[in-house]
Amino acid sequence: MTFEALGLNTSIIKALTDAGYTKPTPVQEQAIPAAIAGKDLLVSSQTGSGKTAAFMLPSLHRLAGTDPVAAGKTPNQEMQAARARGERPRFKAAQPKMLVLTPTRELALQVTTNTDKYSVNLRRLKAVSILGGMPYPKQMQLLAKNPEILVATPGRLIDHMESGKIDFSQLEILVLDEADRMLDMGFIDDIEKIVDATPSTRQTMLFSATLDGVVGNMARRITKDPQVIQILSAANKHENITQRVHFVDDLSHKNRLLDHLLRDEALDQAVVFTATKRDADTIADRLNIAGFSAAALHGDMHQGARNRTLDSLRRGQVKILIATDVAARGIDVPTITHVFNYDLPKFPEDYVHRIGRTGRAGRNGLAISLVNHAEGMNVKRIERFTKQLIPVNVIEGYEPKKTSSPARSSARPGGWKPGDNRTGAKPGQRSFSKPGAAPRKEGGYKGSNPRSSDGARRSYGDR
Ligand code: AMP
Repeated sequence: MTFEALGLNTSIIKALTDAGYTKPTPVQEQAIPAAIAGKDLLVSSQTGSGKTAAFMLPSLHRLAGTDPVAAGKTPNQEMQAARARGERPRFKAAQPKMLVLTPTRELALQVTTNTDKYSVNLRRLKAVSILGGMPYPKQMQLLAKNPEILVATPGRLIDHMESGKIDFSQLEILVLDEADRMLDMGFIDDIEKIVDATPSTRQTMLFSATLDGVVGNMARRITKDPQVIQILSAANKHENITQRVHFVDDLSHKNRLLDHLLRDEALDQAVVFTATKRDADTIADRLNIAGFSAAALHGDMHQGARNRTLDSLRRGQVKILIATDVAARGIDVPTITHVFNYDLPKFPEDYVHRIGRTGRAGRNGLAISLVNHAEGMNVKRIERFTKQLIPVNVIEGYEPKKTSSPARSSARPGGWKPGDNRTGAKPGQRSFSKPGAAPRKEGGYKGSNPRSSDGARRSYGDR
């Protein structure tokens, strides 16, 4: 992948070449085309992933294409013209086209420096930082130049907004950088005030280490139909979770296999994910009849009933929770040793959230997907997203009648112990390969995931 292929303006590409950027990082590959297409973005990525360029390059591309004359005279020019007419010049508020909010001064300065680097061949575009601790006269001088791009920490920006020095009515692009940190630092009210002062037609891009909880709520409030981009870092690749796929022929095979796997001695507590609320209820009933202590958790249940079920899970009275995606988001019970995908999730992101219900608090976990033969492509989509291969496992007595797709082969049958954090494939076995990929050597698990070599090693964030 090249920067040209992402559709960026040639002046920007020249600046990138001069800066020594040879190819886009994973977050840039995904974010730049979507942002150029005008999409709102919710991006979870870490510092060092190249996220500044991921939002700044498409923004510069967009702003470089807008008509500079439409912006009118700069406030400085207006004041000079007023003086020439013998009038007392009135201060005119700056009208930025783009605003980047950052939690700290250091980050704001870094963003501004990078922006200068990327826009070196776009003479019309100016970026300035408005920061706490900077003298007011200096800031007034910067604002008087009517910069197209403002990079600011929320507190100081509010001061200028409230005293009429900045007018956001012409704003086209709003970026929240490290949104989780801004919320941790107590900027939520300031952010809401600033967002409210911007036009609803703006494009919004939010970058954060996590998109869960409070950040997720805010993100949903301030974006429209956003594209969600998740760049997994080493920390959230779930390297302590063993993943497996079991192919099943039909529903009865799936149910028999699930019952068998739930009797695993190493299982303390488990979450079984289903696609529908009805299935969650039906399976919970069936498992209770079969002698398991199971309970369903889904969005049709009243909050009270949901809370009681979660309490029973935490106290260990419920051993197996049958849940839908929405209901199970954020469940943090360290004694959950197993996650089962009774149905595969619709989106690969949900797979990552689901399996993250196990392997918490530094423990190991096992995540098993029960997959119909026709769903092999969905497994591959998950593998592409997580840049990890999921070995196929077969258990004696529960073998599928059909053999799985030729790209897959089965991993060693047998049990799993909580101390076992390998993905379960025999050394040397391949369970998935991209067309043209060299056969992979799979030695044992040695702390880093050998199966992620084609993705994670190339991944810029891991350098
Ligand atoms: P960030 O995650 O935005 O803080 O970027 C981390 C560092 O990577 C910065 O020093 C950038 O200048 C640099 N960087 C960003 N994108 C690229 C790229 N495509 N190639 C090489 N370096 C990059």
